[in-house]
Amino acid sequence: SSFGHMGFPDRLLERIRKVGFLDPTPIQSTAIPQILAGRDVIGIAQTGSGKTAGFVWPIIYHVTKQRPLKYGDGPMALIMAPTRELCQQLYAEVRKFAKNYDSFRVGICFGGVNMYEQGKELKMGVEILVATPGRLIDHVKKGNTELSKCTIICLDEADRMLELGFEPQVRSICNHVRPDKQCLFFSATFKKVIERLATEVLNDPVKLTQ
Ligand code: AMP
Repeated sequence: SSFGHMGFPDRLLERIRKVGFLDPTPIQSTAIPQILAGRDVIGIAQTGSGKTAGFVWPIIYHVTKQRPLKYGDGPMALIMAPTRELCQQLYAEVRKFAKNYDSFRVGICFGGVNMYEQGKELKMGVEILVATPGRLIDHVKKGNTELSKCTIICLDEADRMLELGFEPQVRSICNHVRPDKQCLFFSATFKKVIERLATEVLNDPVKLTQ
């Protein structure tokens, strides 16, 4: 198989080929069609499985169908991650694959650094925002960004997110975003706590393993 059958636009396919990927990994083969069909997804997948591209490509495509964003608008897609390092990796991955789209705006915010510079970026408007939950809430409270345009949310490393105590923030953000949003959870493990949160937040999810 190859990526050609997945329904991605040429602009994205060209980029995937340029990066050097020839075939989808198993989690990409199962997750991408479900995400493109609009389903909520729980993906149980480890680092190394190719899970990141498995949600980053459909999210880029989702956003390209809705762009351009007006100046100052909040993100159409939100990717949440537990740590600064993971946010930075996800941000780099989104930018790498969005390269064929003109002036694609990707934002990033995480705690432990000054709010002001991050806030300036966010205020100009971003199409995809990669964020840790606590810092995102701080920016929403300050009015630096808002989530009314957000139609897809992805949680990466959901199990680590809960281990680090981010459950209240994650729940608050998910409840804040419009109820018809599409929601994706990726996690290396599927414990009771993830199952409980997923049952609360996701709408008729399809559960996929590698
Ligand atoms: P991840 O599990 O998302 O951390 O990805 C693990 C590694 O696999 C990363 O270095 C990706 O760039 C790479 N990768 C992702 N998808 C593919 C693919 N379809 N073919 C080859 N390598 C891939």
